[in-house]
Amino acid sequence: TGGVDWHRLREDFPILHQTVHGKPLIYFDNAATSQKPRVVIETLRRYYERDNANVHRGIHELSNRATQAYEAARTRVARFLNARSPDEIVFTRGTTEGINLVAQAWGLQNLRPGDVILLTELEHHSNLVPWQMLAQRVGAKLAFVPVTGDEGLVDERRLAELLAPPVKLFAMVHVSNSLGVVNPVADWCARARQRGIVTLVDGAQSAGHMPVDVQAIGCDFFVFSGHKTCGPTGVGVLYGRRELLEHMPPWQGGGEMILSVDYHQTTFKAPPHRFEAGTPDISGPIGLHAALDYLDGIGRARIWQHDQELAQYAYDRLAAIPGIRLFGPKRGRAGLVSFLLNDVHAHDVVTLADREGIALRGGHHCTQPLMRKLGVESTARASFYFYNTFEEVDRFVEVIRAIQKFFSR
Ligand code: PMP
Repeated sequence: TGGVDWHRLREDFPILHQTVHGKPLIYFDNAATSQKPRVVIETLRRYYERDNANVHRGIHELSNRATQAYEAARTRVARFLNARSPDEIVFTRGTTEGINLVAQAWGLQNLRPGDVILLTELEHHSNLVPWQMLAQRVGAKLAFVPVTGDEGLVDERRLAELLAPPVKLFAMVHVSNSLGVVNPVADWCARARQRGIVTLVDGAQSAGHMPVDVQAIGCDFFVFSGHKTCGPTGVGVLYGRRELLEHMPPWQGGGEMILSVDYHQTTFKAPPHRFEAGTPDISGPIGLHAALDYLDGIGRARIWQHDQELAQYAYDRLAAIPGIRLFGPKRGRAGLVSFLLNDVHAHDVVTLADREGIALRGGHHCTQPLMRKLGVESTARASFYFYNTFEEVDRFVEVIRAIQKFFSR
């Protein structure tokens, strides 16, 4: 696809070149976490070998270098998302922490008893549980836009009805990690904005896989995790529109986020530093910077096309297996497939695939309410990234066929 030598890119990922249970590793668990290219690993090593120091405090050389690299990473993330300013970028621990930050800082300040937080039925627990906790504290309610059938597409008619007062916030997943549904978030955010509803987009599965432009999407908040975008674990990003961040109180207190402190009161820094109390993960953003350079060096539009082609190929080949149940959209899916074999538990599929060197995920994928809605306990999931190949999909389908045969004897 797109004039890229995808096989050659595999050379950038040391971890891919190993055998598991005597078979060449096929890593199809990218929705859980992505692998790291050598340039990210090297960047982390170089930082710890040459520049490690605390940020924003020392005026010695190493502290200056660390601070510069940390803030350069913020600027890089702003460009990655097309934010208007690096001041709109807050470093977090991940998607989960970004959502909790918004729930506590924005939510406690802005939600009143009777207000409604609107979510879709597709949400990951991390875009559900923090809102439940907030709703209980402030006396707000949750409402859900339903999805239909095994395809899991959001019911647009119901959405149009629900997107109205007393809804104050609409928090939506961009790409569903369990079904591969891609939501038209730009359209939804535009309609929410017309009604004065604040929006948050969970970009955990989209940011590293497709071009993302927060201004074009028109959301108020956008969150993602470094570890799913070829970056290190322990770092994530919250984008917040400046107008909102400026009015939000801090959520954690401590060093680094203050202008001046006396024994009884404190004045806080402006965003984004107001939201980064204590020593942050410094190497994380620096490693993430290298990862974003790497991804954009390939081109996210190309990555997205490759993801989608692999997933469609896998979906179509799996669909030919008798007794398989496939979840998620038939066309236009993101780079993953979720499925069940007749009478075989998803965990058995994953265990047997592992013996063939194939890393899949089986379970509820942190979307228990969605699984219940679909009437299943779990699914098996293969999730792809740009370093996966059609040959790997062929091998995977062969193994799934063999598992099906084994159980239907
Ligand atoms: N939302 C979605 C859609 C996800 O796929 C994930 C990770 N599985 C998360 C949120 C949470 O991300 P993290 O665990 O990195 O905070």
